[in-house]
Amino acid sequence: MLFNVAGLLKSSSGIKQLEAVDGTFDVSWCGDNCSVKGTVLLVRTDSGIWASGKLQTCTPLQCGSCLRLFRQNFEIRIEEEYLPYRDLVSGAIIELRDYEEAFRIDSDNLVDLTYAIREYNELAMPLAPRCERNCRGICSYCGTDLNKKNCLCTTGERDLR
Ligand SMILES: [Zn+2]
Ligand SMILES: [Zn+2]
Repeated sequence: MLFNVAGLLKSSSGIKQLEAVDGTFDVSWCGDNCSVKGTVLLVRTDSGIWASGKLQTCTPLQCGSCLRLFRQNFEIRIEEEYLPYRDLVSGAIIELRDYEEAFRIDSDNLVDLTYAIREYNELAMPLAPRCERNCRGICSYCGTDLNKKNCLCTTGERDLR
């Protein structure tokens, strides 16, 4: 999700640019992708570009109870500053530490929001995802998906009590 900020970098501090976001990023563990829609307001600051995003993601998750893959929507808000490759006044190349490189405007004046969106979306995801609130999970004895049918092990267990 790349945005060209060449024009903004030439403008004075406080100038804004509103962009529509419509993209995806790969989710490696399931081979699927997460879709992202919304808007991002890019604002020229003294040192770079401030990105303020209001986004909806449709994220693949795995139910911790029945192991089924499902999708859930999240609302995320992004607030990050992106620093230019070169100092805007002196033109000198700005050295950044490795972890800061993700929040850097590249030498083609592009801001890539993917890393930030991925990171903020992870914070929005539940620690123990459930496909539905009343997911009954999988029988630990025979492996039957109890959302689809009952198995005899469950009844047997109840009889014992
Ligand atoms: Zn489930
Ligand atoms: Zn069973």
